[in-house]
Amino acid sequence: LAQLFRPLDLLGMVYRTIRQGVIDMASMFALVDTPADVTDAPDATPLDVAHGHVRFEGVSFGYDKGRPILDGLDIDVPAGTTLAVVGPSGAGKSTLARLLYRFYDVGTGRITIDGQDIAAVTQASLRAAIGIVPQDTVLFNDTIGYNIAYGREGAGPDEVARAAEGAAIAGFIERQPDGYDTRVGERGLKLSGGEKQRVAIARTLLKNPPILILDEATSALDSRTEADILATLEAVERGRTTIVIAHRLSTVVDADQIAVLDRGRVAERGTHAELLRRGGLYAEMWARQARERDEALAAE
Ligand code: ADP
Ligand code: MG
Repeated sequence: LAQLFRPLDLLGMVYRTIRQGVIDMASMFALVDTPADVTDAPDATPLDVAHGHVRFEGVSFGYDKGRPILDGLDIDVPAGTTLAVVGPSGAGKSTLARLLYRFYDVGTGRITIDGQDIAAVTQASLRAAIGIVPQDTVLFNDTIGYNIAYGREGAGPDEVARAAEGAAIAGFIERQPDGYDTRVGERGLKLSGGEKQRVAIARTLLKNPPILILDEATSALDSRTEADILATLEAVERGRTTIVIAHRLSTVVDADQIAVLDRGRVAERGTHAELLRRGGLYAEMWARQARERDEALAAE
């Protein structure tokens, strides 16, 4: 299972249309066996994460020849800080996360963690250092306990319960007739979008990675659930280098830096206050979302 475990983290991000986010182990194997032309270099060494400083240095990438998605991207995320990435749909935000996880290799440039090129380290060590809370979480047709424990091989029931606590889903699980042994999936308990996301957060807490990627799944959640989840995530982010892909600007106000991605480039970067003062793309997005929020409130 250890072999299987790493690429799976990313599945939720890549295969987002899987029905209800619940699939069988058998189909999971089939999916994992398909792509992955990324291989370890013959002399690959384990990644040594002393601090968790992430850098994108002149990174260009395209899925297909002749259609660049990222174009000379420079991003510096100091250890322990939070970078928010915003921008229009299709700008390349999720692609950036996939490249950091080395689901694909960069075209030109490089990505480093504490100065080590991620293409030169073993994939297992790279993926052990990074936790992803994807946009859509994929659950196994198994117990809810298993679905959390899968965050780290060999985790005991106490650790699973602690992780569930941290993700604010322990109460919900304990209220189920079979507790942590309650089956989820097609023939079991159906979880809401917010509950599934909490399972993903619990997995990540169990994994306890120095680097965290959050691809916010805000659109699927009502605003109350969203606010609850965001509060939970804030606690998870503490002390970790975090890249948060934010769809709603209200969630990035406190980020150490914000990068506005547009057509594969960083169009603007700065703090929330700096970008508002600048009066550019970010300020425009902010004004638009504020207007939409006001209209939604007025309609209630
Ligand atoms: P964002 O997350 O900012 O909405 P993505 O990084 O998901 O954008 O996608 C950037 C661009 O790359 C989009 O035009 C998208 O259609 C394309 N793309 C994403 N994944 C793939 C893929 N697996 N193969 C080909 N093109 C892709
Ligand atoms: Mg995306």
